[in-house]
Amino acid sequence: MIIVSGPSGAGKGTLIRRMHERFPFLRTAISATTRPMRPTEKDGREYHFLSEDEFLAHVADGDFLEHVIYAGNRYGTLRSEVDRHLHHGDSVVLEIELRGARALRDALPDAVTIFIEPPSRDELVRRLRARDTEAEADIQVRLAESLVELEASQEFNYQVRNDDLDAATAEMARIVDAVTRSS
Ligand code: ADP
Ligand code: 5GP
Repeated sequence: MIIVSGPSGAGKGTLIRRMHERFPFLRTAISATTRPMRPTEKDGREYHFLSEDEFLAHVADGDFLEHVIYAGNRYGTLRSEVDRHLHHGDSVVLEIELRGARALRDALPDAVTIFIEPPSRDELVRRLRARDTEAEADIQVRLAESLVELEASQEFNYQVRNDDLDAATAEMARIVDAVTRSS
């Protein structure tokens, strides 16, 4: 299991997509969320998009390995998503924020953790605005979260600085290659 974390806008999704192109055996556990779907997203592909009631029903049933409220919406890792892939012996990638990563790291000590760092705070702001998926108020909440997240980067097994995308891709590929070979 590979846990990928880092501030919103650092490039986690972009880098993970590139890892799937290079390592076709990688599987991503699809999280559940209550946040609104972006125009580019599809239910069941980026997330299982749930209503608040649906999400809370999963919480009550103990279906989540971990779940948090982040920037006003709920996010959670479904046990079934992780088990489905692990049973097949596949390597599972999880993209989650800091509190979820901490909870899973404690629950799954064999997990390898990777932190994606932006080159600077200004560049993080630029990327979030350029992505154009959140309103300015939501961007500000994500930036506030990023201050806490960046402080925790050293808790992770690996740090990948995503300045030049191709260099970061190569760096992450080296890590994924090493991790999946030895597991
Ligand atoms: P995250 O999943 O961490 O929130 P994304 O992968 O959505 O971040 O990336 C945020 C934005 O920054 C996207 O528009 C993406 O295309 C862009 N981006 C990602 N990596 C780089 C990079 N190295 N240089 C410039 N832009 C980048
Ligand atoms: P976004 O709304 O940009 O897709 O995601 C916001 C944050 O939630 C990101 O840091 C992302 O990694 C995190 N996230 C996505 N799925 C989960 C999950 O299942 N659990 C936790 N704890 N965080 C998640």
